Order: sequence, then structure tokens, then C-alpha cells
Amino acid sequence: MVRGCGRRGFTLLEITIVMLILAVVAMILLPNYVTARSRGRLSACETNLRNMASALEVYSTEHERHFPADLTAIAPTYIQSIPTCPSAGSGRPYIEGFQSASAPSSYTLRCRGAYHVDLGLAEDAPSFQYGTGLRE
Ligand SMILES: [Zn+2]
Repeated sequence: MVRGCGRRGFTLLEITIVMLILAVVAMILLPNYVTARSRGRLSACETNLRNMASALEVYSTEHERHFPADLTAIAPTYIQSIPTCPSAGSGRPYIEGFQSASAPSSYTLRCRGAYHVDLGLAEDAPSFQYGTGLRE
């Protein structure tokens, strides 16, 4: 292609090709970014469950091997505050299930809702059960 004397710049065809290449790269990278972000939130959620389980263990050693009737009993003495799932935003605590109301000797903690279904998990996953541990 012969250009005029002193003309600079890109042709419409060159700009179109660059835009197409950028669009293809974005289409390839965007799903990976979304999945990586979801995986990171799931990992933080599982860390929250482990931290609450550790706090419950410490509580039980100081209360004759019994767990509290609800999670509010462990904050702020055994854990700074009851965490929330990073996928849920704020104000959505975890679902807690204690074996009995008077002197629980077992518990189950679950992430509320369907925040991790995009990763193929069940609606009440992940969960942490006393004796079994973490399950996705
Ligand atoms: Zn969660």
C-alpha cells in the first residue's frame, strides 16, 4: 500500500484487526478471571468455617466438652467476630446446627444460600461438621 508523503496513522483495516484480536483475547480471559474470583471466595469461605470450628473447639475445652447453643456465644471471646461469606456480602451469617439446645456435643456449620453453585457445589456447601471436618 502506497501512502501519501508525510501521512501517518493507521488504516481502518489495521484498527479493525487490532480490535478483533483484543476482543478474542478478552473472550478467552474473562471466564478464567470469573472462575478464579469464585475460587478465591470459596477459599475464604472455607477459612471462615475452619476459624469458627477452631473457636468452637477452644470454647468446648473450657466448657466441659460442650459447644455453645449458638455461634454468638463464641464472639468476641473466642473469635473476634462471626465472619460472613465473601460471596454473600454483609449481614448473612453462616447456618449453624448444634446437636441439642442444652449441652451440644456436636455441630454443623454451613454457608447459607447458593453462593458457590457456579463452581458446581450444592446449595448448602461448603460445610464443616464436628468429627468429619470440611466438606465442599
Ligand atoms: Zn460461602
